[in-house]
Amino acid sequence: MRNIPLARPDIRPSDIRAVVKVLKSLHLSRGPISVAFEKAFAKYIGTRYAVAVNSGTSALHLALRALGIDEGDHVITTPMSFIASSHAIMFERATPVFVDIEPATLMIDPDLVEKKILELKKRKKRVKAILAVDLFGYLADWERLCAIAKKYKLALIEDSCEALGSRRGRRMAGSFGDVGAFGFYPNKVITTGEGGMLVTNNKEIADVAYSMRNQGIVRGKVWGVYDRLGYNYHLSDINCTLGLAQLKRIQKIIRKRRELAHEYTRQFKKAGLVRSPVEQKGTFTNPFVYVIHIPQKYGSSHRDRLIRLLNVRGISTRPYFPAIHLTNFYRRTFGYKQGDFPIAEYFADRGLAIPFYHALTRKDITYIVQAVNEVIKGF
Ligand SMILES: *Cc1c(COP(=O)(O)O)cnc(C)c1O
Repeated sequence: MRNIPLARPDIRPSDIRAVVKVLKSLHLSRGPISVAFEKAFAKYIGTRYAVAVNSGTSALHLALRALGIDEGDHVITTPMSFIASSHAIMFERATPVFVDIEPATLMIDPDLVEKKILELKKRKKRVKAILAVDLFGYLADWERLCAIAKKYKLALIEDSCEALGSRRGRRMAGSFGDVGAFGFYPNKVITTGEGGMLVTNNKEIADVAYSMRNQGIVRGKVWGVYDRLGYNYHLSDINCTLGLAQLKRIQKIIRKRRELAHEYTRQFKKAGLVRSPVEQKGTFTNPFVYVIHIPQKYGSSHRDRLIRLLNVRGISTRPYFPAIHLTNFYRRTFGYKQGDFPIAEYFADRGLAIPFYHALTRKDITYIVQAVNEVIKGF
């Protein structure tokens, strides 16, 4: 039987050679390769600074810390994301305030963001920032979000962990907000095993991030001067060299991902079954996952049955994403319930990510599309 995983990193001989070289150099962390990776990454995104950290979650955490988000602050964000984007807000005892998504794009709805800001202000709550997410490789409506952030003097954080290589015009994902975050887990566009990157044009944010990934040290001073609370969020040179090797061939990676996504879309269209987010005008998308949604007349029990029956045929899939506000922790902490964000819930109930990685063949795709079709026909 076939065994098609959901995701698989693309590791080439050149990646392996690079890692072996670092091991032989004996300079395993905080060495020249991490600086080179940061430089190359900043250049690629077009931001002045890039700070390598040990996960995308750490990048989000440092972004919030660097912006001074604190206990009692409110940060407006989306319930349709990987849970890290909301958890990071809670690390600092700030409150994530969800607003619903736009059905066409699945991204946070700027109209609802503005409405929520006004409502919170009326209730005398401190609103500090908007944390929006580029979902599945697609871009949020950054033009509108930037305008709203400016109007109400809020910080804007971009969770671009899923959107490395996507851009609007010449502006790369990660460079729209005050600060952007990327992740390099093995299912991401490029991987370092575990890892992340904070990007910004703001020197103060970058300096605080450099300091806080290293115990709060004062940079450039003699070692041992600590100015603030910090962590150990370093990304080792072993990880960074893998990232650098992968970044060097990112154009090829993007081309391959787009080819695979097009093939899926073509075959699903023939079957009358596709429902991926709509691309905004002028956007170049580097797809991160391939997500399908089962038809409206079915709900989450059908989706879960689809997942089980595909699994029987050797195809791994995953609900994508469960709505954050309906996870046990958020229900318990904030009292959220079914119906609070109906559009996010609609897509959370029906969405599943299907296998998407470079070694996927056209034959695999045909097999998967056929299997999806057959199962849904049997509902
Ligand atoms: C992957 C991802 C992250 C970060 O994940 P890490 O595992 O901490 O690197 C954050 N937000 C989104 C939307 C993601 O997909």
